[in-house]
Amino acid sequence: PIVPIAPAVRTTCPYCGVGCGVKATPMADGALIEGDPEHMASRGRLCVKGSALGETLGLDGRLLAPAMREEGSLRTADWDEALDKVASTFASIIAEHGPDAVALYVSGQLLTEDYYVANKFMKGFVGSANIDTNSRLCMSSSVAGHKRAFGEDIVPGCYEDFELADLVVLVGSNTAWCHPTLFQRITKAREARPGLRIVAIDPRRTATCELADLHLPIKAGSDVWLFNGLLVYLAQTGAVDADFVATHTQGLDGALAAAAECVDIGFVARSCGIDARLVAEFYEAFAATAKVVTAYSQGVNQSSSGTDKVNAIINCHLLSGRVGKPGMGPFSLTGQPNAMGGREVGGLANMLASHLELDQPAHRELVRGFWDAPRMAANPGLKAVELFRAIEEGSVKAVWIMATNPVVSLPDADQVRRALARCELVVVSDMTAATDTAELADVLLPALGWGEKDGTVTNSERCISRQRAFLQAPGQARADWWAICEVARRMGYQGFDYMDAHAIFDEHARLSGWRNDAQGAPRAFRIDGLAGLDRAAYDALAPIQWPVPPGGEGTARLFADGGYAHADGKARFVATRPRLPANAAGGDYPLTLNTGRLRDQWHTMTRTGKSPRLAGHAPEPFVDMHPHDALLAGVREGELARVRSRWGSLVARVSHGGGIARGSAFVPIHWTGQNASDARVGAVVNPVVDPVSGEPEFKHTPVRVEPF
Ligand code: SF4
Repeated sequence: PIVPIAPAVRTTCPYCGVGCGVKATPMADGALIEGDPEHMASRGRLCVKGSALGETLGLDGRLLAPAMREEGSLRTADWDEALDKVASTFASIIAEHGPDAVALYVSGQLLTEDYYVANKFMKGFVGSANIDTNSRLCMSSSVAGHKRAFGEDIVPGCYEDFELADLVVLVGSNTAWCHPTLFQRITKAREARPGLRIVAIDPRRTATCELADLHLPIKAGSDVWLFNGLLVYLAQTGAVDADFVATHTQGLDGALAAAAECVDIGFVARSCGIDARLVAEFYEAFAATAKVVTAYSQGVNQSSSGTDKVNAIINCHLLSGRVGKPGMGPFSLTGQPNAMGGREVGGLANMLASHLELDQPAHRELVRGFWDAPRMAANPGLKAVELFRAIEEGSVKAVWIMATNPVVSLPDADQVRRALARCELVVVSDMTAATDTAELADVLLPALGWGEKDGTVTNSERCISRQRAFLQAPGQARADWWAICEVARRMGYQGFDYMDAHAIFDEHARLSGWRNDAQGAPRAFRIDGLAGLDRAAYDALAPIQWPVPPGGEGTARLFADGGYAHADGKARFVATRPRLPANAAGGDYPLTLNTGRLRDQWHTMTRTGKSPRLAGHAPEPFVDMHPHDALLAGVREGELARVRSRWGSLVARVSHGGGIARGSAFVPIHWTGQNASDARVGAVVNPVVDPVSGEPEFKHTPVRVEPF
C-alpha cells in the first residue's frame, strides 16, 4: 500500500518556463507527484517530465558534502573550510587585481531568492557586474527586444491568451515538446473552437508542425525577412490600428523603410526558401484575424540576429494594436523555470535589480542607497561567452558557477574547458557530484535540489509561484543563497544576515516599491504588494502575476492602453534589417547544425536521466539528418558517426526520423562528456553571438558528418 508520510505540498515544476503547479506527497521512498488543479499556469496538467519527478529524487550521484582539490584530487571538506577558501581567495584576487577579476556564472535553475542574493553580492558589494547566467543562452534576445520596444523587459500577455486567440503563430518553438502543457491548452482550445488556427514557423518539421494547420519551413535565420514582409503587408492592406499607433508608438516610418524590400511576397519567399503561396496564406490569415498571439522561443532567440527577430515580430503586433488585449500579443516563451525571476533581480550582466538598468547612474544610485552598498558596479559586466574568454585570457581569475554545467552547455565548450583548467579558483555549487564542470572545480559546494529548496520562481506569463520543500536536505547540502551569504560575511560585507528565503523575498519586494516611489518614470515591474508578508503568508502565497502594486491582486495583461516605460510612455517600432547567420554552411562543412531539446529530457539530464521511463524516449545521443545527406557523408542510419565543426566534434548515432530538410542536421543538447562517447553538442556549436543581446547562435553551425 502507498502510505504518505506527510501531507501533500503544493509546489512548482523545476523544468520548463510554463511553470506547472505540482502536488507532491512525501512517501517513505520518495514522493507521489500529481498536477495541482488550482495552479493558474497548468490547471492540474503535467507533461511526462513533470509526471516523472518522483522518479528523480533518489540520492544516487548527489554531491552530499563540500569537497576541495588538493594535489590534483578532490577530498571531502567541511563547510567552514570550503567557505573560508572561497572568501579568502576572492578577497585576495579583488585586492590585487580589482573586482572585475572575479565572476559568478549562475542559472535559470536558481530560485529568485538565490538569484537576488548573488546579484547583490556581486553588483553591490564586490563592485563588479561580472555575474551572468545560463539564461543568456536562452532568452536574452527577448530581453533586449522587449527593452527596445517597450522600454522594459515585459511579456505583455498571459497563457489564457493562447486559448482566446483565433490564430496562434509559433515561431522557432517546438511547443509540443518544450512547453507541453501549454501546447495541450492550445490544442484543447482548438478542439472546442475549430476556428482557432495554429501556424508553425520552423525549419524542422517538429511534433508542433505536425499538429499545426500551416507549417512554414523557412530557412534557418530568415525570420526577419518573413516578419518585415508581414509588416509591409499589414500596412498596405490596412490591417493597422491607426489610433493605437498614433497614440502609443513611435518609429513606424523607420521600421517600414527598413522593411521596404520585403514588399514583394516572391522576394520574401525566396529569402526564406519557401513557396510564395505559404507566405501569402500566412500573411492573409494574420491580417484578417484580430485575435493573434505570436509566441517565439529559442529558434528566434538563439541567433546572431535574435534581437532583431524579436523586434520584427513585435513590430507587427504594434502596427495592428494587438498587444496586451485578450487573445492578442507577442509572447516570449522562456526555456527555464526561473528565467523570468532572474530577470526581476537583475540576473544578467547588463541588468540591475528590480528591472533597473546598470548603465543609468540614477538607477545605480537608487539601488546603492537601498542596499547601503559600498561599491556599486559602474559598468555592465561580461556576458557568458565573453566571460569564459576572459577567464582563458586570465583577466578573470576566479569564478563561482552555480546550478549549471557550462563545459557542456556553452558554445565552443572545449574553450570553456580550457578556460576553467587555467583559472586560479573554480567554485562549483551543484546537487550532482560528477559533471563535466565539476571535474574542473577547486571547491565543490553541495546544493539543495527540487523538493528540498524553498523560495519562488516566475514563469513565462509573469506568474510568481512558490517552490516549497517537502524533503529533508540530504547530507550537508545547503541553499545557494546561504552559501553566498556565508562568503559575503567572511569578506566583511554587511546586509547578508537573512534567516530564510522569506526574508530575501521581502527585501526584493520592498526594493520594487522603493524604486517606484523614488523614480519618476513608471515601470511595470513591481511586487511591493507582496512586501511585508509574514512567514505564514509567504508560505501560503498562491501563484500571482506581477505587477502586484499595494492592495493589488496580480495583473494578467499589460499595455492595452499604452503606458510603456520609455520616457514618453510610447512603444518603439525598431527598424530591423535581415541578415543571414554569421557562418554559412559550405565547403568542408556542408550541413547546418541545429540544436534543441527533446520531449522527455531536461538540460544535461542530471535529474531526468534518473528516470528509465524518460530515457526510453531517446536512449542515446543521435544526429538527425536527411537520408540523402547521410548517403553523401558515407554514414547509415543506426551507425555511429562523428559530427565535426571548426570548433570541435561529438559522436552520435545517425537517425532519419526528425523531419529534417536536406542540408541540415539536428543534435539534442542533453548528452555530456560523461557518456561513453563525448556527445557534448556545445563542443561543436560556433561561439557567434547576437551583437545586442550576446545570445549565442545555437541554431546555425556549419558541420560535416563523418563515419566513426
Ligand atoms: Fe509543466 Fe514544463 Fe514541468 Fe512539463 S516540464 S510539467 S510543461 S513546467
